[in-house]
Amino acid sequence: MRDFTNAKKIVVKIGTNILTKEGTIEIDIGYVGRIARQISSLLRSDRQVVIVSSGAIGMGAGQLEMVDKVQGIKMRQACAAIGQPLLMAEYRKSFGRYGVTVAQVLLTAEVLNNRKTYLNLRNSVETLHKLGVVPILNENDSVSTDEIGTAFGDNDRLSALVASKIDADLLIMLSDIDALYDRDPRRFKGAQAVPAVYEITDQIIKSAGGRGSRHGSGGMRTKIEAAKIASNAGCRMVLADGRLKNVIGRIIAGEQIGTVFMPKRKLSNRARWILNSVTVGTINIDEGAMRAVKNRKSLLPSGVVSIEGTFEAGAVVMLNDNVKAVTNFSSAELKALTGKHSTEIKKILGPGRRDVIAIPEDIVFLDY
Ligand code: GLU
Repeated sequence: MRDFTNAKKIVVKIGTNILTKEGTIEIDIGYVGRIARQISSLLRSDRQVVIVSSGAIGMGAGQLEMVDKVQGIKMRQACAAIGQPLLMAEYRKSFGRYGVTVAQVLLTAEVLNNRKTYLNLRNSVETLHKLGVVPILNENDSVSTDEIGTAFGDNDRLSALVASKIDADLLIMLSDIDALYDRDPRRFKGAQAVPAVYEITDQIIKSAGGRGSRHGSGGMRTKIEAAKIASNAGCRMVLADGRLKNVIGRIIAGEQIGTVFMPKRKLSNRARWILNSVTVGTINIDEGAMRAVKNRKSLLPSGVVSIEGTFEAGAVVMLNDNVKAVTNFSSAELKALTGKHSTEIKKILGPGRRDVIAIPEDIVFLDY
């Protein structure tokens, strides 16, 4: 039995494929209206909602009367710039019917990776929620590209990262993929939808196939990746067919629709931020040090074997290949401290420095 009675902060991700009319790039205005009605009713039950909406590129392409899929980064950037205000205008109009104000927040991956801008995002979402406003997020496609490493790649990932960073209780992923299947439904007729997933195993990833159904752009792979991010951060995720009647209300009421991915662990906000940050280097540590951090002890210089990359104090780095941590020392300082005893830190770096590389609260295991 699913129970979302206590889910107060909800992220709803709306994919391009359900926002557009079947087989076209034209936005389905009627669908935006139905989403506005469903989300407005969530607000009346004292919940806070963030929408992550795709569709900017599609709307831009529609405005330019392009009939085919938008090709090339430059054209996608231009279409996003043209389409984003049009998309927002539709949301504004639809929510306006219910007396609800919406706000636009555009993100790049950098914003979430940098602790300061991430805190700014948290604050602005919090303030908007206090004002009863629904923030509508999208990737800032006109300035972010994979090539310069600022892109999320798809809104599935973006929505899961946002859900985890704003401490959401539930991520509802509305897609043309209606559920996770036990086998690839395109290849096996008897494939069954899985109602609940408690652990995302390699077998699940393999058996899910590329896509669950029809013509999703992100496909099942990015949905599972998103579920991993959400579950690691202690947030439940429901993947469901966005075209089902009153789908959001029915999910919240506990109806068994699509697939629910259950969280693995409850993390602090700081741990979530560490987990979802891109690392800038690696501190290779020995077995003894790894055992110590597993037992929730601080990381000391004596266990350091080598340093990779160049980074500042306060950066998020890898410890070997399965742990992320915030380092109290820069890469140059760590090189000087490698293998040394903690008592020597002051002698080597001067007074006023921390005596450990990372405290347990700043060390997070990727696999739990
Ligand atoms: N950000 C893109 C848009 O608004 C969509 C990305 C995606 O579909 O995942 O058009």
